[in-house]
Amino acid sequence: MIMSDQEMKIDQVLRSHRKSISLELKRDGRLIVRAPYLATRGQIELLVKSKERWIRSKRAILNQQMLASPPRKFRPGEQFLYLGQPFPLEIVTEQKKLLVLEDKFYLAARCQENPRPVFKDWYRKQAGLVIRETASLLASQHGFKYERIWITAAKTRWGSCGPKGTLNFTWRLVMAPEQVVTYVVTHELVHLRIRNHSSLFWQEVEKILPDYRAERTWLKDNGYLLSLE
Ligand SMILES: [Zn+2]
Repeated sequence: MIMSDQEMKIDQVLRSHRKSISLELKRDGRLIVRAPYLATRGQIELLVKSKERWIRSKRAILNQQMLASPPRKFRPGEQFLYLGQPFPLEIVTEQKKLLVLEDKFYLAARCQENPRPVFKDWYRKQAGLVIRETASLLASQHGFKYERIWITAAKTRWGSCGPKGTLNFTWRLVMAPEQVVTYVVTHELVHLRIRNHSSLFWQEVEKILPDYRAERTWLKDNGYLLSLE
């Protein structure tokens, strides 16, 4: 089978001891196929062909997202999110701290060469404060007990709940509106009691946050904005 269509071009085939073929469309548009060692090129292309509609619609969404959020250049005036609110960047020469948020994000000029890790550290620290505070408040209000909270660098896994009562949250979450942070924290706290996503689980979430669906939808639609890429 010949794939002449550029949109359906396979960029990489990763083979492993897996049983089925799966597709992944990267944010930069590359189409990655994961396949068992024994899968033939024909089988792979047939599967890609059968997923054509999915690939096209996913590509359209990615293109829209790229337009809405072009790659970051860390230039003055560029907007950065904190708790759902955009703040413009300003570069300043006289500043002891590397990055300060007031009415704007003030970045020390000496960090201009490599600003991304500076932002990342700032978000990570802030995420630790905001998420720990949110979790401890919700836990005391609703009688949850957790062991500890880790801040991760996960890209789309906003939160998770470990088997021993450890809660993990990505630092990216602190870019989202406060209600969204509250939702993700609530979600993981409820997992301490109910480990799955059964209707019982969602009922428990709803008892604490009657409007949780709006927050969940916000994350689905806008999660790609919670990034420094
Ligand atoms: Zn969950």
